[in-house]
Amino acid sequence: MQCPKCNWAQIVKYGRTHYGKQRFRCQDCKRQFVEAPSRQPINQATRELVEKLLKERLALVAISRVTGVSQRWLQMYVNQKYYALQHPVTVTPKKSVS
Ligand SMILES: [Zn+2]
Repeated sequence: MQCPKCNWAQIVKYGRTHYGKQRFRCQDCKRQFVEAPSRQPINQATRELVEKLLKERLALVAISRVTGVSQRWLQMYVNQKYYALQHPVTVTPKKSVS
């Protein structure tokens, strides 16, 4: 675990947020942050991997496990692609058997 601002590894526990998440503080730049930031940027390499896996028609759950991105983000990403493309042939939503 490192400081998201300066990548300093010396961080200490610093209480909890209102939502019960563990809060940390960097001992170098004094920045405070929580363990799992809700808005985490997805880097280009991960996006490309996601693209590949989507083309393999893997389930979002599986892609999420492989790449480490959240299912929520994946769903958003797929939706964006789906609506951005005029011919969304690569996305075939599975009908759930009930
Ligand atoms: Zn820092």
